[in-house]
Amino acid sequence: MKKKSVAVIGAGPGGLSAAMILASKGYDVNVYEKEAIVGGRNGYFQLGKYRFDIGPTFLMMRNVLDEIFEITGRNSEDYMEFTELDPMYRLAFGNGKTFFPTRNKESMKQQLESLWPGSWDGYERYMKREAKKYEKLIPCLQKPYGTIRETLNPNLFLATPYLDGHINLFKYLGKYFKHDDLKISFTFQAKYLGMSPWECPATFSIISYLEHGFGIWHVKGGLNQMSQQMAKVLEEEGGKVHLNTQVKEIIVENGAAKGLILSDGSEIRSDYVVINADFAHAMNNLIAPEHKRKYTPSHLSNMKYSCSTWMMYLGVDKLYDVPHHNIIFSPDYKKNVDEITKSMTISPEPSIYIQNAAITDPTLAPKGHSTIYILVPAPNNKSGINWADYESDFREKILDIAEQRGGLPDLRRHIVTEKLFTPNDWEDQMAVYRGATFNLAHNIGQMLYFRPHNKFEEFENCYLVGGGTHPGSGIPTILESGKLSASMILKRDFT
Ligand SMILES: Cc1cc2nc3c(=O)[nH]c(=O)nc-3n(C[C@H](O)[C@H](O)[C@H](O)COP(=O)(O)OP(=O)(O)OC[C@H]3O[C@@H](n4cnc5c(N)ncnc54)[C@H](O)[C@@H]3O)c2cc1C
Repeated sequence: MKKKSVAVIGAGPGGLSAAMILASKGYDVNVYEKEAIVGGRNGYFQLGKYRFDIGPTFLMMRNVLDEIFEITGRNSEDYMEFTELDPMYRLAFGNGKTFFPTRNKESMKQQLESLWPGSWDGYERYMKREAKKYEKLIPCLQKPYGTIRETLNPNLFLATPYLDGHINLFKYLGKYFKHDDLKISFTFQAKYLGMSPWECPATFSIISYLEHGFGIWHVKGGLNQMSQQMAKVLEEEGGKVHLNTQVKEIIVENGAAKGLILSDGSEIRSDYVVINADFAHAMNNLIAPEHKRKYTPSHLSNMKYSCSTWMMYLGVDKLYDVPHHNIIFSPDYKKNVDEITKSMTISPEPSIYIQNAAITDPTLAPKGHSTIYILVPAPNNKSGINWADYESDFREKILDIAEQRGGLPDLRRHIVTEKLFTPNDWEDQMAVYRGATFNLAHNIGQMLYFRPHNKFEEFENCYLVGGGTHPGSGIPTILESGKLSASMILKRDFT
């Protein structure tokens, strides 16, 4: 029997997870990627002898990655070397307090009781309740929500008391902790979704629980190795990634996807199309207007999007003795978050995240040198900010914070090479709508049934993967989206 064919637009982690599963189940899979390497936002770049992840640096829920490999009959450890990070990160507050959250109970208790006396009890209650929430919510994320029937599934019904969608994350943490710094320590993870803890539904308290319950991992060579190795599996299974190959349009005939038109004009016919390109970008650019009823430019413009990020990647001739992950909070964190998400202005006192990956992984830089990756959450491009106008001032401000509060004294003197990347660059160079690096926001109105469906709503034979579909943005959920869309195709053909 002739193999059914699948054309995947984009070799990000979402596209690659669907592609490797489908190739392992006998489909003829071709992935078309406009860039010269795989990975998309989970790709890498090299500045001289220094190697940087473009985007993701926190790997949580490693089990989801492991499962994707298991589905294809493989062990992820044969492809990647994982290190659990403990302490998970360093949190530096504006008042000078420093906290090193860890999965080591003794150290956690000692730190909590000395920094915020009496807070251990709240932590224990938090871990207990969130473990239940995890147990109820995870099965919900592993199901599609394309129809009302799918949405009214028994798992969601059982999880309802744990959804906590009526209350914001920051307020919810008040159930466990009195001190704001402590509430921030368990809610700043909303930023992984590009959202404010004061707006994000408390459903997402699950993220900090995932860290405390199951840990945070580094992959040797950088997290980009996940995409590199998924592409390797795809090719071992007979699939192909076509690099430097931009898709111009999805061919739609009689209400169904029939293949792709590439930017050189060539036509690729396929039984299925899987879209991994950034959701709103793909809707606006890859589908002719006559095939769209719902996702018109005005509808897309009214949807809610995550924040963006301003990035600084530095190759440095020194290895600093600071942890792998460091978060330096603005002295007025709430104001900083409101500036990013509400007034959409440049913060005079931003929070910054510093990754010092070479402390764990010497393969990233020459001996005694290191790679310093600084991420500054910033408004998405709805702000209208032209970042080029602020580049040198903002660079100085961020370096000041890194030197004075980030644990990197004299950083300026040690910079060998650098690259800056702004919210405008995410949109212009990486095809990310409004530079919203974490895709569509995760408000209740854009979750589950209300998020773009894995089985595309506009026409047949087309599936979505990546941060813009269910279950949402973040590596584990993105891998789940690939698994879900692949399983829907398999179900359709084999039941
Ligand atoms: C700075 C940053 C930090 C992040 N940190 C974390 C983290 O620590 N942990 C975490 O879990 N998540 C993190 N994320 C969020 C998320 O996990 C990543 O962004 C993830 O890589 C997104 O995967 P994706 O598959 O949805 O899309 P992408 O990685 O964007 O992949 C889409 C692909 O489609 C390609 N493409 C687009 N248009 C076309 C076209 N017309 N033709 C051909 N190809 C096309 C693109 O080039 C790209 O390769 C981070 C994101 C960013 C940006």
